[in-house]
Amino acid sequence: MAQNIRFAPSPTGFLHEGHLLSALYVWAVANIGGYKVHLRIEDHDQSRARPEYIQAIYDDLRWFGFEWESQSIQSERSCAYEKALQLLEKNKLTYACDCSRKSLLLENPCNSEGEVIYQGRCLNKNLEASPFTSIRLKVPTKTVYWSDLRLGAFCESPAAQCGDFTLKDRQAQWTYQFAVCVDDIEENIGMVVRGEDLRSSTARQILLMKLLGRNEPPHYFHHPLLYDPSSLLKLSKRQQSESLRAQKEKGKTAEELLGRTCFSRQLIRKEEPISLKSAILLFSKQIERYF
Ligand code: GLU
Repeated sequence: MAQNIRFAPSPTGFLHEGHLLSALYVWAVANIGGYKVHLRIEDHDQSRARPEYIQAIYDDLRWFGFEWESQSIQSERSCAYEKALQLLEKNKLTYACDCSRKSLLLENPCNSEGEVIYQGRCLNKNLEASPFTSIRLKVPTKTVYWSDLRLGAFCESPAAQCGDFTLKDRQAQWTYQFAVCVDDIEENIGMVVRGEDLRSSTARQILLMKLLGRNEPPHYFHHPLLYDPSSLLKLSKRQQSESLRAQKEKGKTAEELLGRTCFSRQLIRKEEPISLKSAILLFSKQIERYF
């Protein structure tokens, strides 16, 4: 059975040019490897996700002409997450934690990305899970060897990178790390293409997928990001990057935006409109040597 590749935006704002870049990489890799595209709406963070952003993801992707074979929404998959959590609980791989955000920051060191490296304060407390606790994974002290198709080989230890990480938070929300692993298993994802800002999550996801029963992890391709030329920060919703639909409202066509993205990757010599089909082919050509 053909495996899937996923495009997995979070509906916490409107899509911007960084998403368009990511989508072009996803559809190009699907084209190279014969994967089917699965669109996953990653709305696990219910405090930030909004229905209008979900609808906008469908509309914006269709406006460019992107097509996908299947789709899912994380907020409709609670049963799957609950079941996966029960499996980990049965194997004594989880524990409840009542550390506050403040104590987490005060009592634990941080890694180079500013993430807490949890030192296990609640590991042996045997707390009863309650609405005031989060659920953490007992991360085995194992080294994960994995390789990124573009960036090469990595040898990393999630226990040292982040320690026992959270599966469900104190607001009873499933975390990104947990939901993404359950989904990548159940949605038959054989290839993960995403921005290189998520590269450091890969080892812990491979480890967690193994604990959930998937021994053969997906292939990974982390693509370079787009940076805002004035601030040199990566384009993101938090940085209030101009959305694709705002540009559409100002009169830009889909082909003009695709042309700009191709130009930013030096795939064309001057910024000019280009069709989606040609853009995907140009991206495929640029990266096919990695496959
Ligand atoms: N939802 C994440 C984002 O929009 C992508 C997560 C992933 O591809 O693993 O940045």
